[in-house]
Amino acid sequence: MNLEDLQHAENFRDRVSSVTKSGKRNWITALQPSGKFYRFRTYSSIFYLIIFFSLPFIKMNGEPFFMLNFPEGKFIIYGKIFWPQDFFIFAVAMITFIIFIALFTVIYGRLFCGWACPQTIFMEMVFRKIEWWIEGSPGQQKALNEKSWGLEKISKKSLKHFVFLLISFLIANTFLAYIIGVDELYKIIREPVSEHYSLLSGLIGFTLLFYGVFAFVREIVCTTVCPYGRLQSVLFDKDTMQIAYDYTRGEPRGKIIKGQERTTGDCIDCKKCVQVCPTGIDIRDGVQMECVGCTACIDICNDVMDKLSFPRGLIRYASENEISGKRKFHFNTRMKAYTGLLGVLVIFMSILIITRRSIDSYVKRAQGQLYQELDSASISNLYTAKIINKTSKNQHVRLKLEDSKGEIRLVGNEELTIKPESIHEMEFFVVFKKEDIVQRKTGIHLGVYQDEQKIQSITTNFLGPYQ
Ligand code: SF4
Ligand code: SF4
Repeated sequence: MNLEDLQHAENFRDRVSSVTKSGKRNWITALQPSGKFYRFRTYSSIFYLIIFFSLPFIKMNGEPFFMLNFPEGKFIIYGKIFWPQDFFIFAVAMITFIIFIALFTVIYGRLFCGWACPQTIFMEMVFRKIEWWIEGSPGQQKALNEKSWGLEKISKKSLKHFVFLLISFLIANTFLAYIIGVDELYKIIREPVSEHYSLLSGLIGFTLLFYGVFAFVREIVCTTVCPYGRLQSVLFDKDTMQIAYDYTRGEPRGKIIKGQERTTGDCIDCKKCVQVCPTGIDIRDGVQMECVGCTACIDICNDVMDKLSFPRGLIRYASENEISGKRKFHFNTRMKAYTGLLGVLVIFMSILIITRRSIDSYVKRAQGQLYQELDSASISNLYTAKIINKTSKNQHVRLKLEDSKGEIRLVGNEELTIKPESIHEMEFFVVFKKEDIVQRKTGIHLGVYQDEQKIQSITTNFLGPYQ
């Protein structure tokens, strides 16, 4: 190790890679990787981007397939509208989500960050590619940055920032469509600006936010801001799969010296893995929270190994135990159990969402009321009902007493019309002949019907005069 490397080994944890020694911003201009993983990531990000941009346009039963309207507390998943009354599902979803994140990270490390996180996908697969296309390789980018402002610098920088802004605007529109739905978004486009000041300012705000993130903040989101990134340190263990440098094989590192027999490890200290890293770290320093698992260093190091006819995999997906030779990385029982549990959680959540009722009814006996004697032969109980229409269309429902001996007496129409996304509150009587009620509390069954089809069964009590 030379002096520079020794100093680096001593102080690489003293500051984040995006900050220089003097505390200024260190602009990371990463090399463009090429190789098996980069190819897979390109294909998977194309698929991801198609899903991201098309999902708000997909409709199911006239509703958006997926919409998260936080300001109005209205959420649509699988075309079903979820209300604050569905808090139970949200609570279960939150718990499932937290368990999922914890288990997933314990096994697969930052696989999500590298392959599925929108920040990484947009930054590495969209914005950085545009930067390479307009400004060239890292060397050319650095040279351009150091140049004084002339025609070339002005034209390249303005083109880059114009394209960045345009894509940020596109992302902001899509993002807004996830929140308010495409129909509302079309309105902003079609109708006069004066009618949509608030939404328009939201759109501009999101555009500037995305532009700021991808043009200026960039990898700092992953290395400093993202809470999931900060969680890694407590979730990783020595069996967690991560992108790791095989120090047992690579060290002591040493440059290739022509004509000299090689006595050092397989790392030729070319530093290509550092130059390609979008967060500017040296993976050879060991596991670092700044690593977003982008696989760029695997590809470039494999390329170096190929050229030297050394075996691939000096940097690879591996666990700490595998690298240190304690235990070979394999899909062990714990991983299988956790993965199974993750699958069960996903299936459980999906069933909960898919089987959730679009019309929900709650019936209870009116508070503070006992029974009423209607005449010498019959008695009645008063009930209150809440029928929630969670769809965006009128729904016609009917309440029916399933016990053949009694009857329901509604005040008004037999068939109820529940307006879209509303709660219908009502009162009704259930009447029984005295001879049919032989105990103080009798269980009764009500059915909620829609088009002669029972959509819900409700059980409640009927109070009679007997002790
Ligand atoms: S790319 Fe591979 S060989 Fe080159 S410095 Fe990194 S680990 Fe060593
Ligand atoms: S260390 Fe490797 S995997 Fe991690 S962010 Fe850098 S290049 Fe990507």
